[in-house]
Amino acid sequence: MTAIRPLVAGNWKMNGLKSALGEAQALYESLAAADPLPMDVMLCPPSTLLMAMASALNDTELLVGAQDCHTEPSGAHTGDISAEMLADAGARAVIVGHSERRAEHGESDALVSAKAVAAYRAGLTAIVCIGETESERKQGRTLDRVASQLQGSVPEHATAASTVIAYEPVWAIGTGLTPTPVDIAEVHGFIRERLSSIVGSAGAAQMRLLYGGSVKPDNAAELMAVTNVNGALVGGASLKADDLFAIVSVYRALTA
Ligand code: PEP
Repeated sequence: MTAIRPLVAGNWKMNGLKSALGEAQALYESLAAADPLPMDVMLCPPSTLLMAMASALNDTELLVGAQDCHTEPSGAHTGDISAEMLADAGARAVIVGHSERRAEHGESDALVSAKAVAAYRAGLTAIVCIGETESERKQGRTLDRVASQLQGSVPEHATAASTVIAYEPVWAIGTGLTPTPVDIAEVHGFIRERLSSIVGSAGAAQMRLLYGGSVKPDNAAELMAVTNVNGALVGGASLKADDLFAIVSVYRALTA
């Protein structure tokens, strides 16, 4: 069994004008000045910055991903962007099923799964997001919710190379709140076990499981040390190169 190479991915959401490309450059420079990375590091800017960022970072260790895609490769879908277009612009991965898209755009598990399939078709890694709401957690329904989202959102032919799972409790996103390490360990262990029945035990054993939700430089070490956590999906703290570099550095010490 080969060790799982962690991934720290920054989700800029709907933030960043052209001037923000300087943060990507600064992050790249910090990474380049440090030792070789025992992990992948990725930035997912808004689509308007994708091509410029990917061009600037071409052939560097800092990967570029996207935040969403349409299911179709092209066609009459005003305002949408296909996975092929994202790949053409230089993306290596795309986030699908982020809770903000599920909540604000009514995205269903079936749609998220179709978007993951579109990502594979375009040669992109799909970062599939799942996670319970606050009321689901309070009702003790976290594992049920995670199980049904996994079943509905992860395509059967997903592989460890094509797919990353991001567990992001909705109530932890952007709030400064996080589950305890014990809670995260329970959910991530459960996710790995349930994935076996969807993608097979070999794929499930090697698939990267990210934790996301208020990861910051000061809590990254504790959160990333949890069993079955293979990296982080970082929102707010990814907007500043210094913060994301601090998270990567904390994590690098853990994986050294
Ligand atoms: C996210 O939205 O993917 C996220 C994890 O946000 P934050 O880190 O800001 O909680």
